[in-house]
Amino acid sequence: MEIYYRSTRGHGEQVTASQAILQGLSADGGLFVPTEIPKLDTDMKTLSEMTYQELAYEVMSKFLTDFTEEELKSCIEKAYDSKFDVVEIAPLVEADGAYYLELFHGATIAFKDMALSILPHLLTTAAKKNHVKNEIVILTATSGDTGKAAMAGFADVPGTKIIVFYPKYGVSPIQEKQMVTQKGNNTYVVGITGNFDDAQTAVKKMFNDKELEKELDEAGFQFSSANSINIGRLVPQIVYYVYAYATLVKRGVVKDGEAINVDVPTGNFGNILAAFYAKQMGLPIAKLICASNENKVLYDFFHTGTYDRNREFILTSSPSMDILISSNLERLIYRLTGHDADCCSELMKSLSANGSYEITPQMKEELADFYGNFASEQETAETIGQVFKNANYMMDTHTAVAATVYRKYKEETGDDKVTVIASTASPYKFTRSVMNAVDSKYDAMGDFELVDELSRISGVKVPRAIEEIRTAPVLHDTVVDACDMPAAVKKILGVN
Ligand SMILES: *Cc1c(COP(=O)(O)O)cnc(C)c1O
Repeated sequence: MEIYYRSTRGHGEQVTASQAILQGLSADGGLFVPTEIPKLDTDMKTLSEMTYQELAYEVMSKFLTDFTEEELKSCIEKAYDSKFDVVEIAPLVEADGAYYLELFHGATIAFKDMALSILPHLLTTAAKKNHVKNEIVILTATSGDTGKAAMAGFADVPGTKIIVFYPKYGVSPIQEKQMVTQKGNNTYVVGITGNFDDAQTAVKKMFNDKELEKELDEAGFQFSSANSINIGRLVPQIVYYVYAYATLVKRGVVKDGEAINVDVPTGNFGNILAAFYAKQMGLPIAKLICASNENKVLYDFFHTGTYDRNREFILTSSPSMDILISSNLERLIYRLTGHDADCCSELMKSLSANGSYEITPQMKEELADFYGNFASEQETAETIGQVFKNANYMMDTHTAVAATVYRKYKEETGDDKVTVIASTASPYKFTRSVMNAVDSKYDAMGDFELVDELSRISGVKVPRAIEEIRTAPVLHDTVVDACDMPAAVKKILGVN
């Protein structure tokens, strides 16, 4: 079955998967969605005997139908290799009554690696298939993890350049160090004085700027996106939910067909949307638990049916979830409207004009698959401390938001189904917050002293990604205002 992609704000025009990956965002400002969600038609026993790579082919080939078997297998092989420090790629670890799906074993120790290891290969393959002559410029706004993971994926990939914008005062020290030490002749990192939403809004504007597009084209460049709005990010993320379920079946934790819950620490709504797509494919998922930090715009949305970003932006210890505009939610909204692009467009127009929109009671009923809640900063820290004490399992701040919300969910509903919690970052990426949660005495230590102490108390080896940046020189130090981002891009590309 051929799957095509159309815009959440379009008029039914369809593009192939490779074209959707190349374009990133649709020209009308909408996001590409598959015309249909393909079904998982291979039996679970067969799936449970597959390697991660085999399963990735099984799932992704159903969505990316214009890629040949050879092309897709080659992308998968290049992506999920020894860059990951475990052969399972995404190990499932039981601790303190839940199953943690560890998505942080890749090059930059955050779950973004799961998709960004493969996106450069999907994108360069897509460029070849569509006879693109221009050099591809990846433009990315990051709340901390995407930027580094994207640069690690694209560094020195021929025919590409990557420019990353991050909030200068809104990421962890380790995150910043990881970014500003990035090697590769085609990588550029720019701090901005605003927050993540400012960066993301400015990037979206550049994508829709026809004049800029023309100027770039004349200079032999074209933009593409590595943000989680790119369908080439979303599809690889579906794989690990299927893998998690297959692993539970293989271990005899659940019977084939038995429903589980999935709990995801959420920011831009990409990771949890992938879980929702996995459910649409037929994976037995009961509840999709959407966990927010104090920027609880999604929690409020699930409860009231009103999405309202008009509120204070809070800097938390889970910075990759400090987001007030969850871009990928648009794909869910489109579904809730019954694939009505005009209605979806109106809601998104209202979001950009007024900062809010309200869905109808009918649409709200369709949200029954989801449960939303949030964790305060204090609760998040307590969860890290408690789970470490109870189970000797150390989790990062983002995962702890999800673990906190899982506890609230169980208390509220009494539901004790097997639950998979997406563990989205290594604790080593947020060492200071994690160690402070265990004991406030650690606050006096330096960043890398803390790294060694974390290793000592948890017994987990310091990941390669952290060892690498201990002594690495700073290679990027540009900082601009959000309004000067287009000028910064032109300067980098030498376009005037
Ligand atoms: C990006 C990120 C998230 C949020 O994922 P979304 O797909 O944006 O919802 C959560 N945790 C970590 C560590 C991340 O890097």
